[in-house]
Amino acid sequence: MTSVVLFDLDDTIFAHRLAVDRGIASHLAASGVTTVDAAEIARWTELEEHHYHRYLTGELDYLGQRRARARDFAAPYGLRFTHDSEAEGWFEEYLDHYRAAWSLYDDTLPCLDALAGRGVRLGIITNGEEHFQLPKLERMGLADRFEHVIASGALGITKPDRRIFESACEEFGVVVSDALYVGDRLATDAVGARDAGLRGVWLVRDGAASVGEIAAAEASGVMVITSLAQLPALV
Ligand SMILES: [Mg+2]
Repeated sequence: MTSVVLFDLDDTIFAHRLAVDRGIASHLAASGVTTVDAAEIARWTELEEHHYHRYLTGELDYLGQRRARARDFAAPYGLRFTHDSEAEGWFEEYLDHYRAAWSLYDDTLPCLDALAGRGVRLGIITNGEEHFQLPKLERMGLADRFEHVIASGALGITKPDRRIFESACEEFGVVVSDALYVGDRLATDAVGARDAGLRGVWLVRDGAASVGEIAAAEASGVMVITSLAQLPALV
């Protein structure tokens, strides 16, 4: 019986990517860049993927990945940050624009309501720092909906390491087979959870994966949904 449903935060219940895209466009516009093309927004996303991964593997610390993203992105604009504080300041300005663009997906609250209404206990496992992730829940009015929020930064273990999933189930006092985990990344979220013994669900929004990729995931024992509206039926 699935008594606990655990969620990934960014791009599962919280529209992170949308806020990133809007945030960098708005930051550039405020810096006087008159035309912001899609390629530049994509480059910002690629730099996030690259340097945030280096943080998750321990190669960079949290501020280090911010500085690296700022330096790499700003270089083609002729911006050179001599001191670390300048790169961090540039990133902080970006964050103001990012935060201004925060939102939930339309299917988030109905899904949480449906699960809570059936007595399902809810939690979060996120790869990030508590001080950066918790305010998202607070400002979106979600903080009281989750019994436990597990941030990798506080634990020193990142998804897809099975221990972060096991640790979350321990906090809930349930065995792993009683828990389901849903996230937008196949390997990090759904496969990681499945390998730890939970039910692993891959959320594929907006055609983000091919039919072949979805079929392969399902064949490997991962459940696939295209909207959180489909989640309550799996529980
Ligand atoms: Mg995610």
